[in-house]
Amino acid sequence: MINYIIGIDIGGTWTRVALCTDDLNEANMIIKSIKTPKDTEYSIANSLIVMITELLYDNNIKEEQIVGIGLASAGPLDMEKGEIFNNANLGFKVIPLKAPLEEKFPGIPIYLINDGNASVLGVHYFEADDEEKDNLVYITMSTGIGGGVICNGRLLLGKEGNAAEIGHGVVDPSSIIQCNCGAHGCWEVYSSGTGIKNRALENIKDTKLSSRILMIMIDNEVEKINAKYIFQAAKGGDKFSKSIINMSIYYSKIGIGLINNYYDCSSIYFGGSIMHDHELIIPELKRQFETDPIQYTINHPPKIKVTKYLDDIGLRGALVLVKYKLEGNPIIP
Ligand SMILES: [Zn+2]
Repeated sequence: MINYIIGIDIGGTWTRVALCTDDLNEANMIIKSIKTPKDTEYSIANSLIVMITELLYDNNIKEEQIVGIGLASAGPLDMEKGEIFNNANLGFKVIPLKAPLEEKFPGIPIYLINDGNASVLGVHYFEADDEEKDNLVYITMSTGIGGGVICNGRLLLGKEGNAAEIGHGVVDPSSIIQCNCGAHGCWEVYSSGTGIKNRALENIKDTKLSSRILMIMIDNEVEKINAKYIFQAAKGGDKFSKSIINMSIYYSKIGIGLINNYYDCSSIYFGGSIMHDHELIIPELKRQFETDPIQYTINHPPKIKVTKYLDDIGLRGALVLVKYKLEGNPIIP
């Protein structure tokens, strides 16, 4: 009998489910995606049940062949109850995940993990080389900024599984910009997709730099500004858009420096939707840490890379979580 693993990745915009043989052979991976449903607090769990049931039916696989479900989600997560709580992008005070799935698929072990931690597992299994595996950081730059850390060959989880909330590291405490979390000057208010958009909206009115190319792209309708347009305009030479990206890069240098001081990592892999435009960000980060790291970190600098699996790394990590759990891999505490 061939065994299978199911991986799930729940994001603010997309929810993805993967089915794969338990050897994680990429040729056997099947992926389904839907827009994350937000009608009621049970919509996500109900959709997952439908997607899993369809995947099994369409591929002629029996429930007994599933050895585990790995569930990666945007947090914060209550690991004990198996719920998402207080998530700003998904709505609802509490979103139950584990209980409804357990009820529908009794006997299949379900493992929960936050998406940043899942992603670093995905990099660890599918991409990292032997020299970097044991001290590895993943950073996602998307709606917000999140991450996952493997240090000394162990995934760092923290007391409630929420270690590596790196996007809420304060990089400018005197800032007047307040983050969704309540603090002022978090890294993600400058360098996430939402941050880039908001900083552009704030500054577009009184900038002395030319924003002509950006304004043409958005038909002079300022409310249309988003990170994607900022990157496109910067590529076309728009001076204002470039300045917003430079600001985001500056704060990312501070963030990376702090991470390297704390975890002394061999490599940092970047992912998330912002990294579709990585050529505007990564070369300058590389240059800084290859040529003059001491401005931002006292430790030897990490290698800076972009994951090959931009949109799927969290989903792949959810599959890896099950594999590592079942084989008793010491990377998972
Ligand atoms: Zn914050």
